[in-house]
Amino acid sequence: MKAQRVPDSNLKVAVKPTPATTFRLDGKVVAVTGGASGIGQAIAECFAANGAQIRILDIDVRHGETVAREIVEGGGNASAIGCDVADQAGVARAFQEVFRNERVDILVNNAGIAHVGKLENTSEEDFDNVFSVNVKGIYNCMHACIPHMKESGGGVILNMASIAATSGLADRFAYSMSKGAVVAMTYSVAKDYLAANIRCNCISPARVHTPFVEGFVRKNYPGREAEMFEKLSESQPIGRMADPHEVATLALFLCSDEAAFITGVDYPIDGGYFKLRG
Ligand code: NAD
Repeated sequence: MKAQRVPDSNLKVAVKPTPATTFRLDGKVVAVTGGASGIGQAIAECFAANGAQIRILDIDVRHGETVAREIVEGGGNASAIGCDVADQAGVARAFQEVFRNERVDILVNNAGIAHVGKLENTSEEDFDNVFSVNVKGIYNCMHACIPHMKESGGGVILNMASIAATSGLADRFAYSMSKGAVVAMTYSVAKDYLAANIRCNCISPARVHTPFVEGFVRKNYPGREAEMFEKLSESQPIGRMADPHEVATLALFLCSDEAAFITGVDYPIDGGYFKLRG
């Protein structure tokens, strides 16, 4: 199978979102955490192209504002707020800023960080860092949004998990732990807030070609970037990584009214990773 080359750091995704006639989000306000880069950026662009008003919450407010500005320049509605999802008080303040003017219909909990290592080379600090962003960050955002969604008649929550959640990726101890918790939180919230008309699902992508992957390959495998990139591409039977916009299209469906019957589900988007290996 032909491997992908290691891209340069100025990653540009090839596929652009196409406005669809179904799965429209007109009039809906969508909060996207981690919307300044990668999958979150693709979700912000895709949802905006389908009528949503985007509120990006990202620790990297400069890139968040750039993404929002590009959406606005393209005729959409978007803004960005600086926010560390690991900080509960900061998250509450960021959402209060949004709630002052509008209701949030859809929350996409996408912000996340990577960590490479087995249990023995995962320090307590690494463990806490991964947990505080990937697990507590999602709890914090749902904690801020659920009372508001209940009061305003319901909503949709979509969490970004990973194939690591249920397959326990090699050399990704803390990361796999954190994504397992994302799936469990998704099921729990879906069950507890069914009566409040809140749907809650998660997506589990295999490798997606984003700065996240480039960053951890560069940091953890210096000098072996091309080899690792090829290995990561080939771990999907389909022979490549996903494009972030492919994940965004699934997210759009799950957050649209067409998916009204779907809640409490972990959706793999994995290039055959789970079922077609071996
Ligand atoms: P990315 O690094 O390109 O983007 C992550 C974004 O989250 C960045 O804009 C970053 O600034 C933001 N962020 C990080 N920490 C934050 C914090 N504490 N508070 C607020 N924002 C913060 O990553 P990506 O590849 O687009 O990944 C997005 C999500 O998808 C993550 O949850 C990741 O675990 C998950 N995921 C990625 C892949 C992959 O192969 N890329 C596969 C499966 C799941």
